[in-house]
Amino acid sequence: MRWSSRQQAMLQTMGLRLWSRAASTSSKTPAPTPAPTPAPTVTAVAAAAAAPAARREAPPPAPAADARAASIEHLDWPALREAVAACQACELHRTRRQPVFGVGHERAHWMVVGEAPGEQEDLQGEPFVGAAGELLERMLAALALRRAVQGPEPEAQRVFIANTLKCRPPRNRNPQPEELQACEPFLVRQIALLQPRVILAMGRFAIQSLLQSGEPVGKLRGRVHRYRGVPLVVTYHPAYLLRNPADKARAWDDLCLAAQVAQQAVQQVAADR
Ligand code: SF4
Repeated sequence: MRWSSRQQAMLQTMGLRLWSRAASTSSKTPAPTPAPTPAPTVTAVAAAAAAPAARREAPPPAPAADARAASIEHLDWPALREAVAACQACELHRTRRQPVFGVGHERAHWMVVGEAPGEQEDLQGEPFVGAAGELLERMLAALALRRAVQGPEPEAQRVFIANTLKCRPPRNRNPQPEELQACEPFLVRQIALLQPRVILAMGRFAIQSLLQSGEPVGKLRGRVHRYRGVPLVVTYHPAYLLRNPADKARAWDDLCLAAQVAQQAVQQVAADR
């Protein structure tokens, strides 16, 4: 990847090293700047893909929940949007201003999955707004990725952003297991419709939902997991990074790992043709 002067300035502002496609795929080319922590290698990507996270037992869904999930798994994008907008499957519908469906191009190669809407997301109806959203935007922009629905960028530079939970928990409390379970079919369907090349799971509850793992982010990051066949990389939530800026470098390494995975997927599709 060639870095524009704007992208380089952006990374320097964030205290992050440059990521290069050439550096990530050639052992002869040195990394431009030493990373604060070692970035995972392509070899590690392949090796780690076979090492799933420890699984946490989820309670079995009730038959009615099974029927609801089955009805959702055939919806197209417009019908799915309508279903989320009208959803009353958990108590959060009583206190939300509006559900937050997600934003981005419907054929984006990247999917970012966060946790639950906060106050601003609940007000604006869009995930990752405010200071945490701005940090995410800067990190994505440094990889030439955009969340915008419209624009000239190819699908490989598009990101679809969604939350695990579509409605804001009151006073931003932690999501409850039954709320996560009730909302899961919407995320499952979003992923099935999007068919992303890579999923970036941000934060504890996104990771718990997607990997059914109770392990901390620090133990799960740095390798490639799988969610229903889609490569998944774990990283810190931007809100956490705002409170713990020392971990921004690790988050950047995670994005670089996800970029390697997405690039490999594109190359694989081209080779299969
Ligand atoms: Fe429905 Fe999900 Fe909102 Fe609960 S959080 S009401 S399951 S959309």
